[in-house]
Amino acid sequence: MKHFLFSVSFLLLVITSQAQKTYLQCGQLIDVRQLQVLKEKTIVIEGNKITDVLDGYQIGTAADKVMNLKTSTVMPGLMDMHVHIESETSPNHYLEGFTLNDADVAFGSLKFAEKDLMAGFTSVRDLGGSGVNIALRKAIQKGAVIGPRIYTAGKSIATTGGHADPTNNYRKDIMGDPGPKEGVINGPEDAYKAVRQRYKEGSDVIKITASGGVLSMAANGENPQFTEEEVKAIVAAAKDYGFKVAAHCHGVEAMKRAIRGGVSSIEHGTLMDESVFPLMKQYGTYLVPTIIAGRSAADSAKIPGYYPSMVTKKALEIGPRIQATFSKAYKAGVKIAFGTDAGVYAHGKNWIEFRYMVEGGMPILETIQAATWNAADLMGTQAILGSIEKNKLADIIAVPGDLTKNIELMGQVNFVMKDGVVYKNTLK
Ligand SMILES: [Zn+2]
Repeated sequence: MKHFLFSVSFLLLVITSQAQKTYLQCGQLIDVRQLQVLKEKTIVIEGNKITDVLDGYQIGTAADKVMNLKTSTVMPGLMDMHVHIESETSPNHYLEGFTLNDADVAFGSLKFAEKDLMAGFTSVRDLGGSGVNIALRKAIQKGAVIGPRIYTAGKSIATTGGHADPTNNYRKDIMGDPGPKEGVINGPEDAYKAVRQRYKEGSDVIKITASGGVLSMAANGENPQFTEEEVKAIVAAAKDYGFKVAAHCHGVEAMKRAIRGGVSSIEHGTLMDESVFPLMKQYGTYLVPTIIAGRSAADSAKIPGYYPSMVTKKALEIGPRIQATFSKAYKAGVKIAFGTDAGVYAHGKNWIEFRYMVEGGMPILETIQAATWNAADLMGTQAILGSIEKNKLADIIAVPGDLTKNIELMGQVNFVMKDGVVYKNTLK
């Protein structure tokens, strides 16, 4: 009897692992490459891959699984090009730098990763943390914990006293003098060492803080903090390891140096103007706007005591300007990839960026393209992600009803599949 049971279950295992396909019946399917909505399509998934996209509602054979998304708008898994998966804004944020161990950060990050995934973000680019972000990526890849596909910078690279220097404004006896190992460089030699250190630690992408920033304990939020020579050294070193470079940037001079230096994206781009748009187009540099981060930092700054006074001033000045800049950059024809700076506001609310992009004049389907096809282009992963096509990884999400009539539906994601595994399905 035991033997019989064993063989039946073994047989079932063989049948299910070899034959079962999933047929996703989609009422509306967004073609992010052609910017059109296709009606009544069926996506066929086998293992972690899309094996076909068929016309009409198909059911396969009796062994296959059929899922009904006929009343939904289906699209590729969303990709947020700027998150900080380890943390989330709070009035205690600055103190936590002194009180939390890596293990505390790691346990805390689990719910952030899960929230981003459940909001439909099947891939995220983490642009800076302590290194826990690398461990989290590995744990998710192994299936030990739930979260999006992570491409991480590990630790951001700054210059001394710059945004992402880890000991800015500390008391002298604990300020020390962090160097390339800690992600702080001065000069091209250091740039090579810092990039190679990130490679050694397991980063996927390089992040530099080309200008001052809002949330760091420093006076200026927009001054240039890298020489063009330093940017070029970072980019050249990164190229040796197949890394792209993302540059945090608020001020104009800093972004000009970063663009000419060869970075792949300007993050925030707050004060970008008519003198920068042609340069962005000439070099094919992406803008990753993070409108929601600017707006929410400005909102938090209005709560007394939420930020240190040095930060409050910058948050009120810089935060609210991103949306108008995004609008102008879009109209000027600058390439846009979706990114939110999740962590600067609450994880899981990433979708609100879509609302702000539509308010800023971008048509709904283009906002989805920015968060899928363009994002995959920025990451260099278009061959496997970013659209729903044969042979791509099965990262697929859905929202109820007709998205083309209402961008707010992005806040009601009802289906999330990553790598062929369903993590959310409220339609059952
Ligand atoms: Zn950021």
